Amino acid sequence: MNKIFGNKTWENISFESIIPRKRNRRIGLSFPEQKKSLGLEPSVLTVLSQVTNAEFSDRNLLFNDDDVDYYICSVYISGVDEFKKWALQHNFNKIVVGGYHPTTFPEDFIKYAYKIVVGPCDDFFETISQSGQIVQGISTYKEIPAYHLYDSGQNQQIIPNKHIDDTCTSINTSMGCPFKCKFCCSPIMCSKLISKPIELVKKECIYLERKIPKPKWIFIRDENFPLQKDWKHRLYLVSSIGAKIYLFCSANLIDEDMVKTFKECNVYMVCLGLENINDEYGKNKNLDAACELLRRYGIYVYLSFIVNPLEIVGREKGIEFYKRLMNRFYDLKPEMICGNFLMPFRGTPMWDEYYHLVSEEDYKYYDSKSAFLIKNKLCREKMEFFMFYYQWLYYTSDFYQKEVRNFYVNDTLHLRFKELKNEFDIKYSRIFDKRC
Ligand code: SF4
Repeated sequence: MNKIFGNKTWENISFESIIPRKRNRRIGLSFPEQKKSLGLEPSVLTVLSQVTNAEFSDRNLLFNDDDVDYYICSVYISGVDEFKKWALQHNFNKIVVGGYHPTTFPEDFIKYAYKIVVGPCDDFFETISQSGQIVQGISTYKEIPAYHLYDSGQNQQIIPNKHIDDTCTSINTSMGCPFKCKFCCSPIMCSKLISKPIELVKKECIYLERKIPKPKWIFIRDENFPLQKDWKHRLYLVSSIGAKIYLFCSANLIDEDMVKTFKECNVYMVCLGLENINDEYGKNKNLDAACELLRRYGIYVYLSFIVNPLEIVGREKGIEFYKRLMNRFYDLKPEMICGNFLMPFRGTPMWDEYYHLVSEEDYKYYDSKSAFLIKNKLCREKMEFFMFYYQWLYYTSDFYQKEVRNFYVNDTLHLRFKELKNEFDIKYSRIFDKRC
């Protein structure tokens, strides 16, 4: 079967070319390799914005070092292995590495890169001109990301009523988050809220509005967009692009005035964190009221939830947990839900509780869909199945069709879940409700 969203796994690194091409290349790469069918513009485009001769490679190939001045590599936890294997085959003195993992564990990269950048960076040359191997990223906010280096036709997102051919893009108007939710790694990358200059946001919106093909959907990637004092101004600018907007927000910020502005500005969906239903979160005290308000104004609600696999070991605990979770869905009626297994991040308040369970071999599983904290393979696989299964039950329930929306519309949400169901069907067909 040709998969629509199927994840491409990294297997063998292949040579881009052994014949020298143009010289002085500055190549941006993302580790793990960018998934062409399930993702958005890579964040390394921000670093490439002020670099002449820059190019982005969406494949982590081997290059001819003689052609290249710099390899500019962004590494997330699940790409650490892939990066290390790749880096050992290239000239150390040409490799600059940054991103989430180098920010958290810079010392892990000392053998692999001549400069290790900590934190956000959009001024590559200012940053690397600092002395020392580990340097703080410098951002000057002069240029928009280097969108021209990337084909946004490759972007794909799972959104209710978004069809495969609808183009989507994304924008960041701010960086960082001043809060410290105990599981969240965002404040590690940037622990205070930094708004990009409004003139730069305007310039980016004008660029995206003129982009061909015109984006039909835009994701505001800010960690908690309305935390910015001038968020309304920023939202009006983004709405001028003419795309349907979806954004992250915490429920405690939502009131009627905000929801009216969202509606006016073409906000289609708001992503709220339900998180772990066994924990309490200050930001979620008015979650019910926030979901109700959004529904009243016809704005979709996207709830992400966390499953701590260590809390649901055993049949009874699992059944009890998912029963409570499903009841929350029935109360809150989200149009979209998304389950994530707990991933303990170093530097977060919860790290001390879990670090003894995490080793380097687990890094490749940091994609939120693996219950890697459970070391028994069979038990882990079952947990991964059940997290999918209960989401499938919600989407295919009579309740969802009658009270929420029609699931069966061949949008990216429907197609992705059908694809996952086909994968799980091989092993678990007897569990699926035959009506599904
Ligand atoms: S979950 Fe949201 S509000 Fe909490 S620290 Fe992370 S980004 Fe900030």
